[in-house]
Amino acid sequence: MSESTLEALGGGAAPPAQFGHDALVVCDNLVRIFQSGSVEVQALQGLDLLVDQGEMVAVVGASGSGKSTLLAVLSGMDAPTAGRVRVAGWDLMAMQARDRVAYRREMVGFLWQQTSRNLLPYLTARQNVALPMTAPRRHRPARADELLDLVGVGHVADRRPSEMSGGEQQRVAIATALANGPQLLLADEPTGELDTATAREVFEALRTANRESGTTVVVVTHDAAVSHLVERTVAIRDGRTSSEVLRRDDDGDVTHEEYAVMDRAGRVQVPRDFREALALTRRVRLALEADHVAVRPDGSAR
Ligand code: ADP
Ligand code: MG
Repeated sequence: MSESTLEALGGGAAPPAQFGHDALVVCDNLVRIFQSGSVEVQALQGLDLLVDQGEMVAVVGASGSGKSTLLAVLSGMDAPTAGRVRVAGWDLMAMQARDRVAYRREMVGFLWQQTSRNLLPYLTARQNVALPMTAPRRHRPARADELLDLVGVGHVADRRPSEMSGGEQQRVAIATALANGPQLLLADEPTGELDTATAREVFEALRTANRESGTTVVVVTHDAAVSHLVERTVAIRDGRTSSEVLRRDDDGDVTHEEYAVMDRAGRVQVPRDFREALALTRRVRLALEADHVAVRPDGSAR
């Protein structure tokens, strides 16, 4: 089936003039191709993602699915090959080098998995947090202490990283990432090196940053259990968003509902176990019912 036929099946409704115009993060058909010699790797293959201001979203997916590439693009460290990416009105595709520096310093905070990569070893926690600050110098130590208190590690303000636990280091790193009050906090498997209990503490600190300072958080994790701690979990497969799990709190009940993601052209990925159960291959029959769309095997096939 040709691309145009598939789009025609989308119902003919014109797409909204601006996809996700009110979202903080807009990834629209994002493509990132790495070229090394004659080998081409498509790390992102038309990824769509919207994140609203104030949300905390977890990103999950197998190793190599494109999670780190997505975060590198959102942080301004890497530029996509094609597509559209906008954060708080900043067009990351069109950004010049000087804007990129300002964007990275003022708009985003970043947290790496490796605790040693987040902090300078010869500075105390307070000095680490104060270092990237653009506020007047005399305000910096007090502001650093406030941020350390916020994420529950005020007691390590005068210690160097080697005198802290892994969990304390990551929480100091969160305070450092918040130094300039970024709109967006990005964390790439920040709990990957930590045991479960400590990982939980670091996640709680991210939540606190999200709730108390209103920072939007996008956190990559391989820990499926964290979907209980966030409102929305986005799954990436082969460089595209494939499904989302939403957490709903009704009368104190926590429920999880899984959704498939439909892209702007109307494409939906049917999970492998569904396809295998009904031997869905290549061609399927679609039927519009009163309240759902039915997908059936092509009875005439072969
Ligand atoms: P994840 O974080 O989900 O494990 P990545 O975003 O790191 O995945 O990588 C996605 C794909 O892109 C992988 O196949 C990886 O090998 C490839 N890739 C990532 N960065 C580079 C690079 N700098 N050069 C070449 N290939 C890369
Ligand atoms: Mg990664």
